[in-house]
Amino acid sequence: MPYPDTLSPVPEAPKTDSRPALLDQIGATPLLPLRRIGAHLPDTVTLWAKAEHLNPGGSVKDRPARQMIEAGLASGAYQPHHTLIDATSGNTGIAYAMIAAALNRDVVLALPENASAERKAILRAYGAELILTDPMEGTDGAQAYVRREVEAHPDRYFYPDQYNNDANWQAHYTHTAREIIDQTDGAVTHFVAGLGTTGTFTGVSRRLKEHNASVTCVAMQPDTPLHGLEGLKHLPTAEVPGIYDDTLVDTHATCSTEDATAMTARLAQEEGLLVGPSAGANVTTALRIAETLDSGHVVTILCDTGTRYLSDD
Ligand code: PMP
Repeated sequence: MPYPDTLSPVPEAPKTDSRPALLDQIGATPLLPLRRIGAHLPDTVTLWAKAEHLNPGGSVKDRPARQMIEAGLASGAYQPHHTLIDATSGNTGIAYAMIAAALNRDVVLALPENASAERKAILRAYGAELILTDPMEGTDGAQAYVRREVEAHPDRYFYPDQYNNDANWQAHYTHTAREIIDQTDGAVTHFVAGLGTTGTFTGVSRRLKEHNASVTCVAMQPDTPLHGLEGLKHLPTAEVPGIYDDTLVDTHATCSTEDATAMTARLAQEEGLLVGPSAGANVTTALRIAETLDSGHVVTILCDTGTRYLSDD
């Protein structure tokens, strides 16, 4: 059949719909079996990774950013004259900057000065203004800056406050967990997530336990206060997020930066998945759990793309 020599006309975008189409590109990510990394597991045990790095902003944080912004727009807390402000180690900021650009709104982000160069460049490329805070204070220092600024100028800002905003975990309760249940035909037995704002762990675990009370939820943290797992918190030495629900934790786990880095390289080289170090930490932990099982479906999260870390070495 020959190709037609005229192309069909491109449909015009509806002019009345002010909701950016970008928002519908977030979520519905694939759930991938890690067949090579899990090759030594029995056939009855599957290691699954939710490919959140395939979101349009390159990370799992597109989901809560969309949910918090849409909740703010719906409640009136986010007015057209407001600048969006928040503290973020990077990925939520990228998601805010991406979505706010599509909504034609301004963004100010506070982040520790040692966040990776790629992240800062991406944020600036979306048009965000950056406030770089003391790296020794981590994301807690960035949060303190934002609180002072919002207190001083309450009418200037929409402050989603991802550490204390229920829409953060609700994004994962409503979408991420439902997708995991559907994609495993309801058979998920274990869920492993590293703790940052704790939104992923709290939202997914809450929904999975409602689906099946015997699902085991594993909360992972870096093994030391000074670590290289960007996006994760060492809770004993950090401010505990308000949305964290430790009653959902069945097992606590830790992961070293070295083990996470080694697994991140394996994910790229054995599975073709170029993801960041917190994804390596998640898969390290999920594999350790899977290795103790006779049967089960262990699900974890590939939090962000690895392209943001290539100049860190
Ligand atoms: N990994 C990375 C790379 C992140 O940016 C984040 C978010 N801080 C997390 C893991 C943790 O996710 P959550 O905030 O939902 O706990």
